[in-house]
Amino acid sequence: MLPDIENLLRLQEADKEIRRLQDEIAELPKRVAAIEQKLAGTKAQLEKAQNAIKTDEAARRKHETTISDLRGKISKYRDQSLDVKTNDQYKALLHEIQFAEKEIGATEDKILELMVDADTRASEVKAAQAELKEETAEIEEEKEAARQRTAADEKELAEWNGKRNQLRAVVDEDLLRHYERVSKFRGSGLSEVRDHKCLACQVMLRPQTYNEIRSGQQTIICDSCQRILYMNPSEELVEQKPVLHRPRRHHPKIDAPQAWYYRENYADAGEVYLSLTNAGTQASRRVYEIHTGRMVGDILIREGDYRQAFPEDITGAIRLNGDWPEEELEAWGTEAPMVVLDSLYADLEAARYEMSARGTKAQTPAAVPSEQAAG
Ligand SMILES: [Zn+2]
Repeated sequence: MLPDIENLLRLQEADKEIRRLQDEIAELPKRVAAIEQKLAGTKAQLEKAQNAIKTDEAARRKHETTISDLRGKISKYRDQSLDVKTNDQYKALLHEIQFAEKEIGATEDKILELMVDADTRASEVKAAQAELKEETAEIEEEKEAARQRTAADEKELAEWNGKRNQLRAVVDEDLLRHYERVSKFRGSGLSEVRDHKCLACQVMLRPQTYNEIRSGQQTIICDSCQRILYMNPSEELVEQKPVLHRPRRHHPKIDAPQAWYYRENYADAGEVYLSLTNAGTQASRRVYEIHTGRMVGDILIREGDYRQAFPEDITGAIRLNGDWPEEELEAWGTEAPMVVLDSLYADLEAARYEMSARGTKAQTPAAVPSEQAAG
């Protein structure tokens, strides 16, 4: 993986963490505010219950005054009744006394009612006080937790910002600008490549693009979403598993009826795979462009086996492992399938690795490793 890509991946992680921490820091006061609002509600409820008690107490005092006034009146009527001259006057006083007594009874009922209500009011106040106490403790706890969380987040944020600045300083400026522009619009500036696809936009990559990413030599951008593409090292290993599992590359047989070759510069076609097949007294040749799999030119048939028929094509070429029946080659038509290209490419990589380990070069005749002592 390119160092710039590695740094951008770290930068992306830093950007993500910074966003998360900033969101969290902004969220904490909101949580505290929500609890404070709940607390204010409970406080209002308590006040209402306490006020109701006060109102009831005032009403009771008023009723008690009323009763005491009425008792005074009755006592006065009783005194007057001792001095009355006529029966009618006596009856009138008696009536007043009865009326006052009735009113005392009604007022006493009201006091009783208030006393019953007072019990309910008292338990309401008690409940609200308990709730308030609990919520106050909770909010203190929450505030303290928020303070600590914020302090920790801010410390972490400072660390990530430091890391971010360091990473920004080492990444290529143009690449960094591209990364930031795409991140801003798409939420992320990098995308992993898997199964020949850009994972972010799910668009299939062209074989050439795919191979360029796999080789890890240069920065490649997704044509479709503009994200910078990369392949996970673990994924790269999976892709190259045949090579890893076969440290000694399997070499094709020298007398095989079909042979595949890689050539770096083939006429105007550039990099190609050559497929040479013996059939009876003749040999056929097919040429495929290595990235697209497109067939270059027509199938060429000459007399003799392919070594005699196409010596100029074999010289300086890298022999590859590959064997597909003639009918299959026919079935491909003018384009070799991706699975074939992948298989040949993996073998080519292995052959190149082998050559670099031996210190040989592709252009010299000695660079046809498989043409020497096979397996
Ligand atoms: Zn994409």
